[in-house]
Amino acid sequence: MSKHKFQTEVTQLLNLMIHSLYSNKEIFLRELISNASDALDKLNYLSLTDEKYKNIQYEPKITITADKKANTLTIEDSGIGMNEEDLINNLGTIAKSGTKSFVENLSGDAKKDSSLIGQFGVGFYSAFMVADKIEVLSKKAMEDDAYLWSSSADSDYSIKKAKKELHGTTITLHIKKDESEFLESYRLESIIKKYSNHIPFGIYMDKEEYIPSEEEGKEGTTEIKRTQINKASALWRVAKSAIKEDEYKDFYKQISHDSQDPFLWIHTKAEGTLEYSTLFYIPKNAPFDLFRVDYQPGVKLYVKRVFITDDDKELMPTYLRFIRGVIDAEDLPLNVSREILQQNRTLTAIKKASVKKILSELNKLKENEREKYTEFFKTFGKVLKEGLYSDYENKDALLDLMLFKSSKKDTLISLKEYKEDMKENQKSIYYITGENEAMLKNSPLIEQFKKQDIEVLLLDEEVDAIVIPTVFEYDKTPLKPVNHSDIDEEIKEDKEEVKEKEEKFAPLLVKMKEILKDEAKDVKISSRLSDSPSCLIYDKNDPDFQMQQMLKQMGQNNLPNIKPILEINPNHEILQKLSNIDDQTLLYDISFLLLDQAKMQEGMKIDDTISFAKRLNKFIAKSL
Ligand code: ADP
Repeated sequence: MSKHKFQTEVTQLLNLMIHSLYSNKEIFLRELISNASDALDKLNYLSLTDEKYKNIQYEPKITITADKKANTLTIEDSGIGMNEEDLINNLGTIAKSGTKSFVENLSGDAKKDSSLIGQFGVGFYSAFMVADKIEVLSKKAMEDDAYLWSSSADSDYSIKKAKKELHGTTITLHIKKDESEFLESYRLESIIKKYSNHIPFGIYMDKEEYIPSEEEGKEGTTEIKRTQINKASALWRVAKSAIKEDEYKDFYKQISHDSQDPFLWIHTKAEGTLEYSTLFYIPKNAPFDLFRVDYQPGVKLYVKRVFITDDDKELMPTYLRFIRGVIDAEDLPLNVSREILQQNRTLTAIKKASVKKILSELNKLKENEREKYTEFFKTFGKVLKEGLYSDYENKDALLDLMLFKSSKKDTLISLKEYKEDMKENQKSIYYITGENEAMLKNSPLIEQFKKQDIEVLLLDEEVDAIVIPTVFEYDKTPLKPVNHSDIDEEIKEDKEEVKEKEEKFAPLLVKMKEILKDEAKDVKISSRLSDSPSCLIYDKNDPDFQMQQMLKQMGQNNLPNIKPILEINPNHEILQKLSNIDDQTLLYDISFLLLDQAKMQEGMKIDDTISFAKRLNKFIAKSL
């Protein structure tokens, strides 16, 4: 016998399980059955694709046995099994980085942490919620030795050689005293039906059955009978009309480990040239790893009901990585590697059709149940936006799914709605990007738009600054940021008047430009300002401040110094008076104050805050 220490994170997780206050302890059975089903899937796949396993004879099934005398519950499968190395790697460490970081982030507050279990699905270790000792007897298919893994949830576990006739795994749980409900067959049956009804293998249990007596008036007898508890039908293959709502929901919980009901599901059976079934779910809440690079993909691939993989990120585009579900293809070869399958044309076509289907269902939701759609968009819109630059083919469909905040309305609006409300001679769809809605709403950059009652989209999400500039038009109308230099032309009210002002202010502009030459590319008269004295804009070919920030965050450290253009408001009192002063020091200070306040309004940092404060104080003193 050999003793082994658990990885630190496992010990942490075990501690959480032992002291768990989580009320929904029954999910441990779902987790163990799901592991057994995965093990059967793996062997099934190998027996069909790998020479070595070609001749293996076995009946794929899962058997559950409760022994009230011994206080044990066993879960037995005839799957792939584990050898000594597997046992150490799988049941002594946490391999998945997502799970690992989940454990690392536990707060130590048993109550709070326990409630996370349900949202997470911590697999095998969840059995320690109901058992104080667990034994795993396993024999790997096509190998000779069997091993017994055993742990009482201390900091170590033991492994020893053991005897087992057939390949597969038998897990024995020594049920805690006050969890004896999990030895009652009616309780077990209802848990199995609830969570595991549609796993593709039969789950068997010994059940007492009443046999009525043949003689009239005489008591019947009870007999123990091995019974299949679950339907074992692949739900995605069943006709829609034969599936109850609860069955859809329970199947979702089984494959997603989510304790909440799904937000929506899309079940498709395609026949004809391309034959396949898909069942996709949108979760209610964002999966915990949605913004992790190493997120766990949520779609499983089957071929003719044979499980192929659940770890293929390319089954869905990354912007749909929150989708959970199953793709089951009819006409795919089973005996090729997963990598080659990736390049298979049939699979590519199925993936393409699936994306289109999901997008069109979302569009339907948007048209018919706007409130519900808005709820979805608030959770997943950020991710969906990534598709605008990564999925050229579906760009139009994606654009139609976008919702935005608006300078004129309190609700989120679509681009179509924006267009319907456009002013008669408005040429473009205008937007402003920045850090938060309040700042955008009050930005000097949109003063003129407000004055002319032109709607501006307020884009306050980080991803906007990167994605939206790659969208040049919607339904033939250009999209333009309000801080780009060529907008001026479009919103000038009176071209003659502007020209006059330009002439009048020309000498001042020359002087200011010289003063600010290290900070601003140009100093110009503005048409977009109404109340504020100044604002910053960008040459239409330059990335603006938000974009520069994003590029830096993405690791582009050698960006050239891109200077903004300072625009000044010729109708503002300051500028009116400024054009008449001769005091060079005064002009110098005011030029910098105009630039610095414009920077602040944009959410930029002022480099020389000391000089800024000095100048400000000078003017405060003067005015007193
Ligand atoms: P997960 O199932 O999410 O990977 P678990 O902690 O439940 O995490 O299981 C860890 C690993 O142990 C599994 O990935 C699998 O490789 C192995 N394992 C668990 N149960 C079985 C089983 N019944 N048969 C074969 N392997 C198993």
